[in-house]
Amino acid sequence: MSDLPFQVDETITNSRLIGAHTSTSGGLHNALLTGKAIGCTAVQLFTKSPKQWSGSAPSPEAIEKFHAAREETGIRFVCSHDSYLINLAAPAEDVMEKSLRAFTSELEYADALGLSWVVTHMGAHLNKGEDAAYNRFIVSLNSILDATDKAGQKVGVALETTAGQGTGLGWQFEQIARVLEGINHHPRVGVCLDTCHIFVAGYDLREPEAYETTINAFDNTIGLANLKIIHANDAKKPLGSRVDRHEHIGDGEIGAAAFTRLVNDPRLCHLPFIVETPDSEEMHAVNVKRLRDMAGGQWTGNGRQENAVPIHEEHETQLTK
Ligand SMILES: [Zn+2]
Ligand SMILES: [Zn+2]
Repeated sequence: MSDLPFQVDETITNSRLIGAHTSTSGGLHNALLTGKAIGCTAVQLFTKSPKQWSGSAPSPEAIEKFHAAREETGIRFVCSHDSYLINLAAPAEDVMEKSLRAFTSELEYADALGLSWVVTHMGAHLNKGEDAAYNRFIVSLNSILDATDKAGQKVGVALETTAGQGTGLGWQFEQIARVLEGINHHPRVGVCLDTCHIFVAGYDLREPEAYETTINAFDNTIGLANLKIIHANDAKKPLGSRVDRHEHIGDGEIGAAAFTRLVNDPRLCHLPFIVETPDSEEMHAVNVKRLRDMAGGQWTGNGRQENAVPIHEEHETQLTK
């Protein structure tokens, strides 16, 4: 912990927004109940299947149950993640139409549930011209924001930094900044920073200097005021690989020191930290606890715990499997 450039504020660790993407199996409210059971104070969920174009709006009963579960669990931050099929920069007209319709429903469902943000990837250019794709994305988003403003919606759109895999948009901070400018810094639009994605896209977080360079680059291009959510995922693949494979906190290429710095950074610690790591059933609780312990200054990575017996290979396997 001694390489931290600041003091850990113990008073904020219990009030921290730390959680996971949880399952809605058996009902939307279950995402909150599961979240509570594994120590989340923040939750991300899918309001419908992420692999399908259409879904149905939550029924009045489902909404009621959801609100009741929110009250019961005290989970303070909830966002949704949109369907993976949506491409608001699609070159093909039919895909664009479906995407606009599907994204509009995503916002409607999230708004009906009282969620604060819908996290979205910015689509892909599919080798039909990158520049034109950004322009299409901006036009799409502007039209959706207009329509949903008129409908009185409150839910925001959080543009997620991507890994730069394939022809995906939004893996460089400048590209996100271009979109924010294109939508005139609309107040219902923010940004979600995914640690795995930015790392494999080439933004290092490991050493203190590299960490500062990356956070400052984000601030100078996108602006930290626009940052609303952090997806806390370690990375299986190396820096700049542009391959998106999430790893358990502290067990990947990014490592525990970077996450400790991240959850204790006074510029970021008010934000929700959401894990989207593998083996969710056994490991979400572990990853959430790791972040919470880091925020409390109690966990600095496997085998590097202060005043602890050295952790053996065995124990590590047990923790990660
Ligand atoms: Zn993410
Ligand atoms: Zn990812």
